[in-house]
Amino acid sequence: MAKMEVKTSLLDNMIGVGDMVLLEPLNEETFINNLKKRFDHSEIYTYIGSVVISVNPYRSLPIYSPEKVEEYRNRNFYELSPHIFALSDEAYRSLRDQDKDQCILITGESGAGKTEASKLVMSYVAAVCGKGAEVNQVKEQLLQSNPVLEAFGNAKTVRNDNSSRFGKYMDIEFDFKGDPLGGVISNYLLEKSRVVKQPRGERNFHVFYQLLSGASEELLNKLKLERDFSRYNYLSLDSAKVNGVDDAANFRTVRNAMQIVGFMDHEAESVLAVVAAVLKLGNIEFKPESRVNGLDESKIKDKNELKEICELTGIDQSVLERAFSFRTVEAKQEKVSTTLNVAQDNSFEQFIINYCNEKLQQIFIELTLKEEQEEYIREDIEWTHIDYFNNAIICDLIENNTNGILAMLDEECLRPGTVTDETFLEKLNQVCATHQHFESRMSKCSRFLNDTSLPHSCFRIQHYAGKVLYQVEGFVDKNNDLLYRDLSQAMWKASHALIKSLFPEGNPAKINLKRPPTAGSQFKASVATLMKNLQTKNPNYIRCIKPNDKKAAHIFTEALVCHQIRYLGLLENVRVRRAGYAFRQAYEPCLERYKMLCKQTWPHWKGPARSGVEVLFNELEIPVEEYSFGRSKIFIRNPRTLFKLEDLRKQR
Ligand code: ATP
Ligand code: MG
Repeated sequence: MAKMEVKTSLLDNMIGVGDMVLLEPLNEETFINNLKKRFDHSEIYTYIGSVVISVNPYRSLPIYSPEKVEEYRNRNFYELSPHIFALSDEAYRSLRDQDKDQCILITGESGAGKTEASKLVMSYVAAVCGKGAEVNQVKEQLLQSNPVLEAFGNAKTVRNDNSSRFGKYMDIEFDFKGDPLGGVISNYLLEKSRVVKQPRGERNFHVFYQLLSGASEELLNKLKLERDFSRYNYLSLDSAKVNGVDDAANFRTVRNAMQIVGFMDHEAESVLAVVAAVLKLGNIEFKPESRVNGLDESKIKDKNELKEICELTGIDQSVLERAFSFRTVEAKQEKVSTTLNVAQDNSFEQFIINYCNEKLQQIFIELTLKEEQEEYIREDIEWTHIDYFNNAIICDLIENNTNGILAMLDEECLRPGTVTDETFLEKLNQVCATHQHFESRMSKCSRFLNDTSLPHSCFRIQHYAGKVLYQVEGFVDKNNDLLYRDLSQAMWKASHALIKSLFPEGNPAKINLKRPPTAGSQFKASVATLMKNLQTKNPNYIRCIKPNDKKAAHIFTEALVCHQIRYLGLLENVRVRRAGYAFRQAYEPCLERYKMLCKQTWPHWKGPARSGVEVLFNELEIPVEEYSFGRSKIFIRNPRTLFKLEDLRKQR
């Protein structure tokens, strides 16, 4: 494969080393220094073989212009300095010319630049693929899906002003000419709870602020809204404005994008009516409970808001009121409240997200090794085993069908009798106590009895990326994810077509006595489907790194970067690439570059390139244990050998 080759042009005029495979000596310190040196010179991309490391610059760099697109178009991966466009081009061309399905996996922590990277890849592909009105429309639709999804799924968090609160998998279909036909976007686990509560310093989803800031007076009236954020309990006040973000302008962008994506005007307005209704729902307050006919009942304080919600959604007021009034009984007296969750530990959502990251890491390990191994087999080179940490054991702790954490949670949720988060934790303690990656203090024989950093209501998992403490509170409810039947039935009765369609389970004719699958098992199934799907495609990797936690340009905090490099296993990644052989090159270009170093091969070698290289390496007295001859490539063990060749060239 072309992209496996290390073109020696990577050594020319390069700041630091463009491919970590060439780093010598290789250790954590040199790795980080190299990244830092390049970052300081605005070189945010560095390779590990065909993997792209991207360090978030937190400022706009002039490296994504149409001229840059032209520069990277149809060039070999290693010809130019490392760039996300080179990966995009490589992936696109193998898809178009070799008909190989591609997937691009973008990983990294919150704020590392995944979303921006995905947009850069999309914009590159859109720039280089087909032309014509029809194709352009498809391209525009694909690109404009981003502002729409971000409005409804992204929010300002302490880590990232535009944090994606859902996982995204986008599938784009191309025809045989390489023109895009369309795409399907799958979302994973939107952080729904953010609508109701946001941690201090964070915001609700962008769309609420965009709507209030950017809607015309006429639209606001129609939606029965006021422009003032402080009128709405769901919009936390301490962080309502985000520096450098123009919510009003973004509202226009989103409306325009919705139109391009294909929403008719009335459809877009009906979506906004739902947004308005949600905001107003947050303002409903309940009077203290009273007992009516033996049932706890709570009364709505101010009926005006309720009336307006019903007008917006076409739900009969008495139906909705009744559904609300009895809700608190089942919801264990939990009231709709906007109290900020000050001490937010990690909860169910984060657990699920980390499970997905764990699986992505696993597929990364498997495929990187597999690809390397396959190349060796193809080239008839002996495979040298390399030790690496395989996180399959952590995936198993979470997903094992009989005693995995998700299975335990499901079992607990389905068990008759009193089920609480505590009973779930007790169960975990019985089953997982001895697992190497599981820590809790509940059981008497726990190894962590004296570990005060581990509260009794928590368990800790040693993920590949580090230890994470999970607060069990809410696990059972969130896994059940049940909407009280009264409420879904009320929603289904709405004359608002969109709302009705969102609650099919509220249709009394279709009452299903079977429990819907739990959130955890649904997620597990979709992750499994995703992994299967990814395994059928040729993977391309972008590993995003966050250089500081100030969201600031020019700051490179080594400790922070070091942590990410460790858990992303980047050093191991380089070692795998170099396992046995640091790099390889097809015989022809190798001979072409170095033939000047040997009388017998200069200026022309008559005969197969392979024997030319053999003669050359003999003449230069390169120790035989330093290289191997593959079917089409020379494999070189140590980067120093390559540097020696380069030095000799320079001396000529
Ligand atoms: P999350 O997991 O929270 O969704 P993320 O990895 O998707 O995080 P992004 O939203 O892509 O992170 O990036 C955070 C911010 O960093 C962006 O809003 C942008 O300001 C900046 N940024 C990221 N990548 C680049 C880039 N290549 N050039 C300039 N700025 C960037
Ligand atoms: Mg994101």
